[in-house]
Amino acid sequence: MARRFRGRRLIVASHNPGKVREIAELLAPLGIEALGAAALGLPEPAETGVDFAANAVIKARAAAQTAGAPALADDSGLVVAALGGAPGIYSARWAGAERHFGAAMRRVETELQARGACTPTERRAHFEAALALCWPDGECAVFSGQVAGFLVWPPRGERGFGYDPMFVPDGGTLTFGEMEPAAKHAISHRAAAFAKLLACFSDG
Ligand code: IMP
Repeated sequence: MARRFRGRRLIVASHNPGKVREIAELLAPLGIEALGAAALGLPEPAETGVDFAANAVIKARAAAQTAGAPALADDSGLVVAALGGAPGIYSARWAGAERHFGAAMRRVETELQARGACTPTERRAHFEAALALCWPDGECAVFSGQVAGFLVWPPRGERGFGYDPMFVPDGGTLTFGEMEPAAKHAISHRAAAFAKLLACFSDG
């Protein structure tokens, strides 16, 4: 059975403001306030894991042990089939230290064009998220979610963050960058992982 979190404030072990905002919006209906790692002055550990789940655990465990309180971390990224799964766990790193996602999206597009990937079928991709909830004693629970779609060029929309402006979820026509935040939350990889994490917050 999942270990329960019963507090009213939860550390979100991320220095990415877009991600902290989305997690705060997911936690708010539960009456839980999100405290961002940057605001708490927590360090950013090196993401040395081989997959999203391992990196989420590294971040949440480091924050929980430093702060002495439970912490939630998300590790996520864009997985492009034609690029052999890249950028994957390197999604943030493709944007460089400056976190320049215009350049990261252009790199994805350049590599797709180099492979002659033109049709939506050739441009399949999914976002994947792993959420880790860790306690100061080192125990962690990890939950994963995905949303599948395809990539468009040029990027469209000012909403969201990261690669959102070039990702159209299956069944839709708008990019994540054009969609209302609530519409993205209803179907996103992070929301799918979060739905599983709810078991750690319920009293059931
Ligand atoms: P992380 O902080 O190492 O998990 O980096 C995840 C990176 O994946 C982000 O910086 C974004 O580039 C990308 N990413 C993850 N989730 C999303 C999303 O919902 N929309 C757009 N890009 C995302």
